[in-house]
Amino acid sequence: MRFRSRLTRFPRLGLRPATRCLGDWAGRLVGIQDEDVARVRAASDIVAVISQHTQLRKVGQRWSGICPFHNEKSPSFSVNPTEGVYYCFGCRVSGDVITFVREIEHLDFVGAVEWLAAKAGIGLTYTDRDEGQQRRRSRLLQEAMAKAVLWYHDRLLNHRDAGAARRYLRTRGFDRELVEKFQIGWAPDRWDELSKHVRLPADVLTDCGLGFVNRAGKQQDFFRARILFPIYDDQGRPVAFGGRKLPDTDGPKYQNSRENALYKKSSTLYGLNWAKSDIVRSNEVVVCEGYTDVIGFVRAGIPRAVATCGTAMTEDHIKSLKRFTRRIVLAYDGDEAGQRASDRVFEWEARHEVEISVLALDAATDPDELSRTNPAALVEAVEQATPILGFRVSRVLKSANLATPEGRARAASAALAVVAEHPSSLVRDQYVMEIAGFCRVDEQRIREELQRIAAGLEREARSAKHTGNRSGKSEGRDS
Ligand SMILES: [Zn+2]
Repeated sequence: MRFRSRLTRFPRLGLRPATRCLGDWAGRLVGIQDEDVARVRAASDIVAVISQHTQLRKVGQRWSGICPFHNEKSPSFSVNPTEGVYYCFGCRVSGDVITFVREIEHLDFVGAVEWLAAKAGIGLTYTDRDEGQQRRRSRLLQEAMAKAVLWYHDRLLNHRDAGAARRYLRTRGFDRELVEKFQIGWAPDRWDELSKHVRLPADVLTDCGLGFVNRAGKQQDFFRARILFPIYDDQGRPVAFGGRKLPDTDGPKYQNSRENALYKKSSTLYGLNWAKSDIVRSNEVVVCEGYTDVIGFVRAGIPRAVATCGTAMTEDHIKSLKRFTRRIVLAYDGDEAGQRASDRVFEWEARHEVEISVLALDAATDPDELSRTNPAALVEAVEQATPILGFRVSRVLKSANLATPEGRARAASAALAVVAEHPSSLVRDQYVMEIAGFCRVDEQRIREELQRIAAGLEREARSAKHTGNRSGKSEGRDS
């Protein structure tokens, strides 16, 4: 009842004049005409926009739901569609539809207005010429990418030189529906087929990574003889391609677009544009390694998977995902799952209030293959994903030789070394009993040993900080 009584105070907060003023001020500062900003705000349905990120329920004249900006179990987030504003009684964020899009999509003011304008079909007038030019350039590149996606997709579906690609996709379980949903394409085995047909200026082709001018001064396509998986940003705009070669042909298995004005590897997640509504609905995201794994999860009825594009998971990926859910399940190929997860995962869990689990797959398989041979097993594996610390500890214990006292002591030490990495002593303590029981070592001895290792690690971290001698681990690496 307390929640309701707070709700009745909501209209008196007088949010609207403040946000309107901020919006107009910011609009003038960066260059969209005030009238356009007002039109976009009026045309946007705040309930529909927010509903993409949290489930809202109608309560009287307002809508309420779980706050998308802080972690909570009962709803403190309220939307007033008449006033066009939202407010959270928990973390006290507030604003109008433009503020919401800015916060949730990590956009600046102009970016948020453009995002909403695109949805409402409103054209914008820019007041600042430079700003306008930069935006126009981005839009030009986006249009070029969209054209290329369509052309490659049509080539795969309809051209006779794509026969081998179509046959290959069929043998790998891609039916017409999947090919169309993911807009999969075919880059023919020719030098300049795309550039001849899409008729885009050379600098546009170069800037979005579709082509280049070769040493002989001729326009050449970047992708050749490859099945193409278009990579979209989370708003569904194509920004890059992942290109897979056919079996028994030359070259690396995958060739991806280079980074460009539209595409940053370390923050892009393949599949997020399709997966985000199911991620919000199920409050969970599966992170895997490849395009075909993402599609495999869809095939198995789990449409909430995304893939890192040829890099390990980065902190930017976590930031991007936590806008939609706090529960992240890693589905890297079987044996590597533990190692591939960055050793900074525990740090990220604490800093971003996310919970990272690992899906245990048989070392001999991957999600793509399992989705074709035994989809039920893939579904079960997702349901049984375990927190990353528990996953790593049980791997150490399972591989140990428990037949001898020395073997059990070694297993206990190895497991403790893993547990000691976790920053929370409360979490660490949860594993003491498990290790003690498994290795038949006295619980108190295990606890003391754990404290000793953890204290050593903390000392190390402190002195590393003190001398500025930080270890040079990099977050992402190309694979
Ligand atoms: Zn909140």
